[in-house]
Amino acid sequence: MPVPNLDIDLSEEEQQVRDVAHRFAADVMRPAGEALDKLTPDEVIAPGSIFWDVYKQYLQLGFTELDPEADPVAVARLQCLISEELGWGDAGLAVALSTAGMPAELAKAVGNQELLEQFPPDNLGCWAITEPNHGSDMIDFNSRAMAPGAKPGKPNCIARGEGDEYVISGQKSAWVSNGSIARSVALHCATETVDGQSGGGIFLASLDLEGITRGKPLHKIGQRALNQCEIYFDQVRIPASQMICGPSDYSFMTDMTLCLANGGMGMIFVGTARAALELALDYAQERVQGGVPIIQHQSVKGRLFTMYRKVEAARSLSRRVTLYNAASDLPALQAAISAKVTSTLTAFEVASDALQIFGGAGTSQEYPIEKIFRDARVSMIEDGCNEVLGLLAGDRLA
Ligand SMILES: Cc1cc2nc3c(=O)[nH]c(=O)nc-3n(C[C@H](O)[C@H](O)[C@H](O)COP(=O)(O)OP(=O)(O)OC[C@H]3O[C@@H](n4cnc5c(N)ncnc54)[C@H](O)[C@@H]3O)c2cc1C
Repeated sequence: MPVPNLDIDLSEEEQQVRDVAHRFAADVMRPAGEALDKLTPDEVIAPGSIFWDVYKQYLQLGFTELDPEADPVAVARLQCLISEELGWGDAGLAVALSTAGMPAELAKAVGNQELLEQFPPDNLGCWAITEPNHGSDMIDFNSRAMAPGAKPGKPNCIARGEGDEYVISGQKSAWVSNGSIARSVALHCATETVDGQSGGGIFLASLDLEGITRGKPLHKIGQRALNQCEIYFDQVRIPASQMICGPSDYSFMTDMTLCLANGGMGMIFVGTARAALELALDYAQERVQGGVPIIQHQSVKGRLFTMYRKVEAARSLSRRVTLYNAASDLPALQAAISAKVTSTLTAFEVASDALQIFGGAGTSQEYPIEKIFRDARVSMIEDGCNEVLGLLAGDRLA
């Protein structure tokens, strides 16, 4: 049962977009996500998998082509509505669909039209930041969250400047979302010039270049519709013009990237939390114990109210942050992190409470709630462990 909608200020166009996104989430994503959850990681991305139908239908909706000339806040309002519905449909698919546009988003962010044409939103992309030996280290790129005196150590992936090219060698972690299937990558990696100077850089690159190979798709507990795998680089040559930032602006651009990623997670996981709340409300009205639907029992009502309150609060924060960051020349990382941490924690807590309301049935794969619980659990590590993100945000406040 949908909970009463408090959105009183949506324009007709916004309501239409939200309704289209909701129908896609309900009719296409929810059933596909449940089916993909039961497959092996190889089957999820095999030719003929329902995953490809979802991706094709998503592109046809036109959500990746929201008018770039439009007011950024108006576009952000639409994105809030769309992302929540996608997260309501299926968290893993929602992350796959939004990550697919990451190279295009970064080309847009730096205003590079040539790169945007080379890596448009419908060129399935991925974002490769973390490395096998540097997960949190790459998120905490300025070492603000590290223990005093701690040092991240040698990078796993290095780009070495050679004339008007960079030669990239090494690997990114097994966690790169869309890693097996992406055609392009937004790659964060250490850079080294011929005279040995080093720093960080972000490159946009095609993944069909000579020297690039991929690992085996990852087998994990939740968001199983989301493909992930390592990407290996063996002396891969990339034109220097495809470096969107070098050491001098790496810190600023990585902030921007984390703002995009964390802001997006904030919106998606409000939808996942709402899905759990709605399923629990329905079940509580159907399931009879003591001769009455369990929703009549005080503790179930109280639990449902707590879940409802958390979803509304996470949505309000997430939207406020998204709109602020869309309007601002200098997006606030601490705000994007607050949205990500709040929404993912809310999704996890609400899914856990929903599972409790389902009782024994909640633990069974016959009901959708255990999957949402697994999907939500993963989100507290995805795009940065919540505790590490919290330390980064705290450092900003200080
Ligand atoms: C579903 C999913 C999707 C992902 N998608 C992508 C993607 O698209 N691209 C990509 O590059 N990566 C992706 N990741 C990787 C993700 O960003 C990392 O898993 C995350 O940053 C944590 O790194 P780690 O797994 O190496 O854990 P570690 O960094 O090894 O951390 C292990 C534990 O130590 C703690 N810890 C580590 N360092 C500190 C510190 N300085 N202070 C306090 N505590 C610390 C952490 O909080 C955690 O509890 C994804 C991960 C998941 C689960």
